[in-house]
Amino acid sequence: METITKQSPQGCNNICPTPPPLPGPAMNCRRKGSATKGNSCASTATRDLWDNLFDRGYRADVTIRTNDGGIIYAHAGVLGMASPVLRGMLKQAKGVGHKRLISIHGVQHDAVRVFIRFLYSSCYEQEEMKELVLPLLVLSHAFVVPQLKRICEQQLENSLLTLDNVVDVFQLSLLCDAPRLVLLTHRMILRNIKAVSATEGWIAMKRSHPALEKEILESMIYEEQMEKERIRKLNERKIYLQLYEAMEALVHICREGCRTIGPCDKDLKDDQKPCTYEACKGIELLVRHFAGCKLRVPGGCIHCKRMWQLLELHSRLCADSGSCRVPLCRNFKDKIKKQFKKDEMKWKALAKKILSTKRIGGEPYFLSSKSISSY
Ligand SMILES: [Zn+2]
Ligand SMILES: [Zn+2]
Ligand SMILES: [Zn+2]
Repeated sequence: METITKQSPQGCNNICPTPPPLPGPAMNCRRKGSATKGNSCASTATRDLWDNLFDRGYRADVTIRTNDGGIIYAHAGVLGMASPVLRGMLKQAKGVGHKRLISIHGVQHDAVRVFIRFLYSSCYEQEEMKELVLPLLVLSHAFVVPQLKRICEQQLENSLLTLDNVVDVFQLSLLCDAPRLVLLTHRMILRNIKAVSATEGWIAMKRSHPALEKEILESMIYEEQMEKERIRKLNERKIYLQLYEAMEALVHICREGCRTIGPCDKDLKDDQKPCTYEACKGIELLVRHFAGCKLRVPGGCIHCKRMWQLLELHSRLCADSGSCRVPLCRNFKDKIKKQFKKDEMKWKALAKKILSTKRIGGEPYFLSSKSISSY
């Protein structure tokens, strides 16, 4: 998990689902003071006993054939107990007397050796794990050895996943039914698509599984769209928030007055506190313009047009037009009653969006976003 985050600088945590948790704690408690076979949860003596049994093949009764004519000796009792699949294979295996012969092909000899030794002592050497983690993942899945499978998944997740092997790991985790690893590798591929698509793994996948490549590219387009949509929503919210602030500033100017402008029954003091409404300055300029403009009609000049819109919007949001001091508030309310249904829906939707940018409704001057639909 950590590795993934480090390797992919642009965090898209908002849109990516969280990977499913690993099933239970893996049993690879690291032992202190053991330089070579450092990973086991059995005591040292027990571990050595089982390792010796495997290494020496004492009274081994199974011969395992591997790739390139390799041979591994093992014990039917151990194999059968450790893996139900091996148990089945041993039942059907041919042999002379008590000696039975089975074959494990498809992965390199060393991987089978490390795999079989794990069945004895739950041990593996870190160097071997590093080199053989992928065939070990395949073997542990194919022969149903969940402890080893979990260790392989953890090793990949914590340190062994790289840009070079991520495509292979992605494909293998699909085949080996490792959903967490599928998600992590898929995410890593998407975040590093440029570098990954130049790797041998990608080129090989393109040749052998063109559908998979297509799927990845499609999911990338989808994620990009999601990101765009997220930014669009963020910008939209920003606009509604600005409108809300403009509405607040308008009420504030018309009630208390600000700096140079205000209701005629109030004297503005020079030593007034600095205004807390950020939108106030803009609204103040607009109101001043509106008062002096010769073209003061809807659709006349762009500033006036904007003022008309703000005044109408205010009226839509206003909680009490009777006591409101914003110009034309009442007139607009009357006009609204005569307006077409279609227009009405648009205004209501806008008003709702603006009011919902503030979690607490705009009382006392504005309606609550819930009450919009009822007016
Ligand atoms: Zn102000
Ligand atoms: Zn004007
Ligand atoms: Zn009003």
